[in-house]
Amino acid sequence: MSPDYPREACGIVGVFGIPDAALLIHAGLFALQHRGQEGAGIVTSDGNQVKSTKGLGLVNDVFSMKTLRGMKGHLGIGHVRYSTTGSSRLQNVQPLVVECSDGIWAIAHNGNLINAGALRLMYQEAGAIFQTSTDSEVLIHLLADPMYRNRPRRVARALAELKGAFAFVLMTKDCVMAARDALGFKPLSIGKLGDGYVFASETCALSQIGAEYLRDVEPGELVVVDSSGLHSSWFAEPPSTGLSHCVFEHVYFARPDSLLFGQSVHSVRMKLGMRLAQEHPVEADLVTAVPDSGNSAALGFSRQSGIPLDFGFMRNHYVGRTFIMPDADQRARSVDMKLAVVKEVVKGKRVVVVDDSIIRGTTARRRVSALREAGAREIHMRISCPPTMHPCFFGIDFATRAELIASNRSLDEIRVYTGADTLGYLSIDGLLSPFPKAPDYCTACFSGRYPLDISRMEGKGALETLTPLLNLQAKNH
Ligand code: SF4
Repeated sequence: MSPDYPREACGIVGVFGIPDAALLIHAGLFALQHRGQEGAGIVTSDGNQVKSTKGLGLVNDVFSMKTLRGMKGHLGIGHVRYSTTGSSRLQNVQPLVVECSDGIWAIAHNGNLINAGALRLMYQEAGAIFQTSTDSEVLIHLLADPMYRNRPRRVARALAELKGAFAFVLMTKDCVMAARDALGFKPLSIGKLGDGYVFASETCALSQIGAEYLRDVEPGELVVVDSSGLHSSWFAEPPSTGLSHCVFEHVYFARPDSLLFGQSVHSVRMKLGMRLAQEHPVEADLVTAVPDSGNSAALGFSRQSGIPLDFGFMRNHYVGRTFIMPDADQRARSVDMKLAVVKEVVKGKRVVVVDDSIIRGTTARRRVSALREAGAREIHMRISCPPTMHPCFFGIDFATRAELIASNRSLDEIRVYTGADTLGYLSIDGLLSPFPKAPDYCTACFSGRYPLDISRMEGKGALETLTPLLNLQAKNH
């Protein structure tokens, strides 16, 4: 099996000390469905018996109420997976479950491990067999490694071997653990529900199941919950140079009703929209969002500029997933079906369209064309992040550098390509302006300044060696 290291932006949930944990995990995964639609899985334990269910598709496709009721237990973990067409197979759906000499372990991962290739090769050369093509599986091998097995802090030591971006939830038959990498790329929050604890990628999942948000798992922290309570320890020191929270989580990925890295996603996006209006003012009749991720920024743009906000696009929430469609034409038609222009709103108007990002440019072009067909007089595109010029190596599924329109075209060439009358991107300073400690954010896909040494990824010594691995289906916009 050739490893393809899918670049995922997944969602994870962990529950300890609450009856019918499977039902809660299911509700939490449902709230995190926007982070992954390819597959979902839940593993539970009643302290003795471990049960696992997983499958391809949406959370509600994978779990029936009968299945969930059959998964008895007061602890468990769950995962929703976003990946690519080539990696769309059941073995890759998490949580990964294995039986080690000391019993069953299950893990669920959000992020991307940049030394997974080197670790995998090392274990394969020593005779280990891998069951999946995910980077996450290397943690299983580290946990099972005899070198680590008898050490008291084996989980911490295994985590300390990993490089890259990760938020993990792990479980054995009688405890649940949660950990974040030392730079804090990926979000992971802790909540309290009754006498039990809940971990989730975003706080919207805690709200969904009625848990009270306590705090985030800190970068480099390992939190263990068992029958004796919650225990914290550190497997890595956060660097003195600052953290690297993924700023794109705030721009696009997370749900607006989540608190992320301590700040409201909605408020951050509003501020980005306000700053965008200051940086790229325009005379127009209305502001409209590209829903849903452009909504909060469009509201901010409207408030700052005084231009009224209206609904120029209407989203159809019942269109299937575009990424599994086999050809580009089908995907494009599906993208068109997802967003309809409200003609009566835009006809004869000068329209400001606020979107969160432009990746390849094809979707932006279709949006502009649809607005023109509906009779918009002028179209002014405003993007609430800087031009996306560099690939992400830390778990967000962008196109290759060649496919990123901003990496090989000037601003005006992008404007011409999309067909807009004007185009304005937020500056990097503007992007970081909502955050009290700007250096604590990764901006590598905009600036090219990677917080980790990616030139030695996979231990092969060259960024180019990863290019085929990155040539995966991008977010279609
Ligand atoms: S490169 Fe971009 S998408 Fe990737 S972690 Fe950094 S900010 Fe996030």
